[in-house]
Amino acid sequence: MDTYDVIVVGVGGMGSAAVYHLAWRGIRVLGIEQYDIPHDRGSSHGLSRSFKFARWHHLEQAVDDPAGMDRDCHPADEAILRTFVRRYFPAGDGPTLSMHTCLFTNTPDTHFVIDAHPECPAVFIAGGFSGHGFKFCSVVGEILADLAECGSTRHDISLFRAARFAKGSLA
Ligand SMILES: Cc1cc2nc3c(=O)[nH]c(=O)nc-3n(C[C@H](O)[C@H](O)[C@H](O)COP(=O)(O)OP(=O)(O)OC[C@H]3O[C@@H](n4cnc5c(N)ncnc54)[C@H](O)[C@@H]3O)c2cc1C
Repeated sequence: MDTYDVIVVGVGGMGSAAVYHLAWRGIRVLGIEQYDIPHDRGSSHGLSRSFKFARWHHLEQAVDDPAGMDRDCHPADEAILRTFVRRYFPAGDGPTLSMHTCLFTNTPDTHFVIDAHPECPAVFIAGGFSGHGFKFCSVVGEILADLAECGSTRHDISLFRAARFAKGSLA
Protein backbone atom coordinates (compact mmCIF):
# COMPACT_ATOMS: atom_id res chain seq x y z
CA MET A 1 0.00 0.00 0.00
CA ASP A 2 1.31 3.46 -0.89
CA THR A 3 1.77 5.83 2.02
CA TYR A 4 2.09 9.61 1.99
CA ASP A 5 3.35 12.28 4.37
CA VAL A 6 0.79 14.88 3.29
CA ILE A 7 -2.58 14.67 1.53
CA VAL A 8 -3.95 17.75 -0.22
CA VAL A 9 -7.71 17.72 -0.81
CA GLY A 10 -8.71 19.88 -3.81
CA VAL A 11 -6.15 20.34 -6.57
CA GLY A 12 -7.21 23.77 -7.75
CA GLY A 13 -5.14 26.93 -7.65
CA MET A 14 -4.07 26.67 -4.02
CA GLY A 15 -3.97 22.89 -3.77
CA SER A 16 -1.82 22.44 -6.86
CA ALA A 17 0.61 25.08 -5.55
CA ALA A 18 0.78 23.26 -2.18
CA VAL A 19 1.39 19.93 -3.95
CA TYR A 20 4.13 21.56 -6.03
CA HIS A 21 5.94 23.02 -3.01
CA LEU A 22 5.70 19.78 -1.02
CA ALA A 23 6.90 17.60 -3.91
CA TRP A 24 9.76 20.02 -4.59
CA ARG A 25 10.88 19.53 -0.96
CA GLY A 26 10.93 15.76 -1.43
CA ILE A 27 7.84 15.17 0.72
CA ARG A 28 5.58 12.29 -0.35
CA VAL A 29 2.37 14.10 -1.21
CA LEU A 30 -0.95 12.93 -2.65
CA GLY A 31 -3.41 15.38 -4.25
CA ILE A 32 -7.06 14.34 -4.24
CA GLU A 33 -9.36 16.05 -6.74
CA GLN A 34 -13.05 15.35 -7.29
CA TYR A 35 -12.88 15.89 -11.07
CA ASP A 36 -10.44 14.83 -13.78
CA ILE A 37 -7.58 17.31 -14.12
CA PRO A 38 -7.85 19.66 -15.93
CA HIS A 39 -11.52 20.54 -15.48
CA ASP A 40 -13.58 23.72 -15.84
CA ARG A 41 -15.43 23.73 -12.51
CA GLY A 42 -12.93 25.46 -10.21
CA SER A 43 -12.35 29.13 -9.40
CA SER A 44 -9.29 29.41 -11.58
CA HIS A 45 -10.24 27.02 -14.35
CA GLY A 46 -12.21 27.04 -17.59
CA LEU A 47 -13.65 29.92 -19.58
CA SER A 48 -14.04 32.14 -16.54
CA ARG A 49 -10.24 32.57 -16.62
CA SER A 50 -9.98 33.82 -20.20
CA PHE A 51 -9.61 37.55 -20.91
CA LYS A 52 -12.85 38.93 -19.64
CA PHE A 53 -14.79 41.80 -18.20
CA ALA A 54 -16.42 41.13 -14.88
CA ARG A 55 -17.63 43.07 -11.90
CA TRP A 56 -17.65 41.75 -8.37
CA HIS A 57 -21.12 41.56 -6.84
CA HIS A 58 -22.32 43.53 -9.83
CA LEU A 59 -26.03 43.69 -8.96
CA GLU A 60 -25.43 43.76 -5.19
CA GLN A 61 -27.20 40.42 -5.13
CA ALA A 62 -27.07 37.90 -2.28
CA VAL A 63 -26.86 34.17 -3.02
CA ASP A 64 -28.62 32.11 -0.38
CA ASP A 65 -28.47 28.81 -2.25
CA PRO A 66 -25.57 28.38 -4.71
CA ALA A 67 -27.15 25.19 -6.10
CA GLY A 68 -30.39 26.98 -6.92
CA MET A 69 -29.20 30.38 -8.10
CA ASP A 70 -30.04 31.80 -11.51
CA ARG A 71 -27.00 31.04 -13.66
CA ASP A 72 -28.43 32.57 -16.83
CA CYS A 73 -27.00 35.85 -18.05
CA HIS A 74 -29.47 38.66 -18.69
CA PRO A 75 -29.37 41.99 -20.57
CA ALA A 76 -29.07 43.78 -17.22
CA ASP A 77 -25.84 41.88 -16.52
CA GLU A 78 -24.37 42.80 -19.88
CA ALA A 79 -25.46 46.44 -19.60
CA ILE A 80 -23.31 46.96 -16.50
CA LEU A 81 -20.26 45.52 -18.20
CA ARG A 82 -20.92 47.48 -21.41
CA THR A 83 -20.76 50.72 -19.49
CA PHE A 84 -17.34 49.73 -18.22
CA VAL A 85 -16.12 48.52 -21.64
CA ARG A 86 -17.21 51.71 -23.39
CA ARG A 87 -15.45 53.85 -20.83
CA TYR A 88 -12.15 51.98 -20.43
CA PHE A 89 -11.79 49.70 -23.52
CA PRO A 90 -13.76 51.47 -26.29
CA ALA A 91 -11.91 49.52 -29.01
CA GLY A 92 -13.28 46.31 -27.47
CA ASP A 93 -16.90 47.45 -27.58
CA GLY A 94 -17.86 44.80 -30.17
CA PRO A 95 -20.34 41.92 -30.05
CA THR A 96 -20.39 39.82 -26.91
CA LEU A 97 -18.89 36.39 -27.63
CA SER A 98 -20.03 34.66 -24.47
CA MET A 99 -21.21 35.40 -20.95
CA HIS A 100 -20.91 33.20 -17.88
CA THR A 101 -21.77 33.41 -14.23
CA CYS A 102 -19.31 32.51 -11.52
CA LEU A 103 -19.37 32.23 -7.77
CA PHE A 104 -16.69 32.48 -5.14
CA THR A 105 -16.75 32.25 -1.37
CA ASN A 106 -16.49 35.51 0.57
CA THR A 107 -15.49 35.84 4.20
CA PRO A 108 -17.21 38.59 6.25
CA ASP A 109 -14.07 40.78 6.08
CA THR A 110 -13.02 39.51 2.58
CA HIS A 111 -9.64 38.35 3.94
CA PHE A 112 -8.58 34.71 3.53
CA VAL A 113 -8.75 31.90 6.06
CA ILE A 114 -5.47 30.00 6.39
CA ASP A 115 -5.29 28.10 9.64
CA ALA A 116 -5.20 24.76 11.38
CA HIS A 117 -8.51 22.98 11.80
CA PRO A 118 -9.68 23.90 15.33
CA GLU A 119 -10.25 20.27 16.28
CA CYS A 120 -7.58 18.54 14.15
CA PRO A 121 -4.27 20.42 14.40
CA ALA A 122 -2.66 18.23 11.74
CA VAL A 123 -5.24 19.42 9.18
CA PHE A 124 -4.77 22.85 7.60
CA ILE A 125 -7.46 24.80 5.77
CA ALA A 126 -7.10 27.49 3.11
CA GLY A 127 -10.30 29.07 1.81
CA GLY A 128 -12.55 32.08 1.67
CA PHE A 129 -10.38 33.72 -0.96
CA SER A 130 -13.15 36.23 -1.64
CA GLY A 131 -12.48 36.68 -5.35
CA HIS A 132 -8.89 37.85 -5.02
CA GLY A 133 -6.93 34.73 -4.24
CA PHE A 134 -5.52 33.72 -7.60
CA LYS A 135 -2.58 36.09 -7.58
CA PHE A 136 -1.54 34.57 -4.24
CA CYS A 137 -1.70 30.88 -5.27
CA SER A 138 2.05 30.47 -5.32
CA VAL A 139 2.69 31.91 -1.85
CA VAL A 140 -0.40 30.25 -0.34
CA GLY A 141 0.91 26.94 -1.70
CA GLU A 142 4.25 27.64 -0.05
CA ILE A 143 2.52 28.52 3.25
CA LEU A 144 0.42 25.33 3.15
CA ALA A 145 3.55 23.30 2.45
CA ASP A 146 5.27 24.98 5.45
CA LEU A 147 2.29 24.27 7.72
CA ALA A 148 2.00 20.65 6.57
CA GLU A 149 5.73 20.07 6.94
CA CYS A 150 6.57 22.07 10.10
CA GLY A 151 3.30 23.34 11.60
CA SER A 152 4.50 26.94 11.14
CA THR A 153 5.59 29.34 8.40
CA ARG A 154 7.98 32.29 8.08
CA HIS A 155 5.12 34.28 6.52
CA ASP A 156 2.92 36.38 8.81
CA ILE A 157 -0.52 34.78 8.48
CA SER A 158 -2.02 36.27 11.64
CA LEU A 159 -4.52 38.23 9.51
CA PHE A 160 -5.97 34.95 8.24
CA ARG A 161 -6.73 33.21 11.55
CA ALA A 162 -10.11 31.47 11.57
CA ALA A 163 -10.68 32.52 15.18
CA ARG A 164 -11.38 36.10 14.07
CA PHE A 165 -14.85 34.89 13.11
CA ALA A 166 -15.56 33.39 16.52
CA LYS A 167 -18.68 34.83 18.13
CA GLY A 168 -18.05 38.41 19.28
CA SER A 169 -14.72 38.77 17.45
CA LEU A 170 -15.95 40.77 14.45
CA ALA A 171 -17.02 44.36 14.88
C1 LIG B 1 -14.98 34.26 -11.84
C2 LIG B 1 -13.85 34.44 -10.90
C3 LIG B 1 -12.98 35.49 -11.11
C4 LIG B 1 -11.89 35.67 -10.28
N1 LIG B 1 -11.01 36.69 -10.54
C5 LIG B 1 -9.90 36.82 -9.80
C6 LIG B 1 -8.96 37.84 -10.10
O1 LIG B 1 -9.13 38.66 -11.00
N2 LIG B 1 -7.83 37.91 -9.33
C7 LIG B 1 -7.58 37.03 -8.32
O2 LIG B 1 -6.54 37.14 -7.66
N3 LIG B 1 -8.48 36.06 -8.01
C8 LIG B 1 -9.62 35.93 -8.72
N4 LIG B 1 -10.55 34.96 -8.43
C9 LIG B 1 -10.33 34.12 -7.26
C10 LIG B 1 -9.38 32.97 -7.49
O3 LIG B 1 -9.68 32.31 -8.71
C11 LIG B 1 -9.55 32.02 -6.29
O4 LIG B 1 -9.28 32.73 -5.08
C12 LIG B 1 -8.58 30.85 -6.34
O5 LIG B 1 -8.60 30.21 -7.59
C13 LIG B 1 -8.98 29.87 -5.23
O6 LIG B 1 -8.19 28.72 -5.35
P1 LIG B 1 -8.66 27.42 -4.63
O7 LIG B 1 -7.59 26.40 -4.84
O8 LIG B 1 -9.07 27.75 -3.22
O9 LIG B 1 -10.01 27.01 -5.36
P2 LIG B 1 -10.19 26.27 -6.77
O10 LIG B 1 -9.16 26.74 -7.75
O11 LIG B 1 -11.64 26.40 -7.11
O12 LIG B 1 -9.83 24.77 -6.43
C14 LIG B 1 -10.58 24.00 -5.50
C15 LIG B 1 -10.51 22.58 -6.03
O13 LIG B 1 -11.01 21.71 -5.02
C16 LIG B 1 -11.77 20.71 -5.66
N5 LIG B 1 -12.64 20.15 -4.64
C17 LIG B 1 -13.66 20.76 -3.98
N6 LIG B 1 -14.24 19.92 -3.11
C18 LIG B 1 -13.56 18.74 -3.21
C19 LIG B 1 -13.68 17.49 -2.56
N7 LIG B 1 -14.60 17.28 -1.62
N8 LIG B 1 -12.82 16.51 -2.91
C20 LIG B 1 -11.87 16.72 -3.86
N9 LIG B 1 -11.71 17.90 -4.51
C21 LIG B 1 -12.55 18.89 -4.19
C22 LIG B 1 -12.49 21.44 -6.78
O14 LIG B 1 -12.96 20.57 -7.77
C23 LIG B 1 -11.38 22.37 -7.27
O15 LIG B 1 -10.60 21.79 -8.30
C24 LIG B 1 -11.66 34.77 -9.22
C25 LIG B 1 -12.56 33.71 -8.99
C26 LIG B 1 -13.64 33.54 -9.83
C27 LIG B 1 -14.57 32.38 -9.59
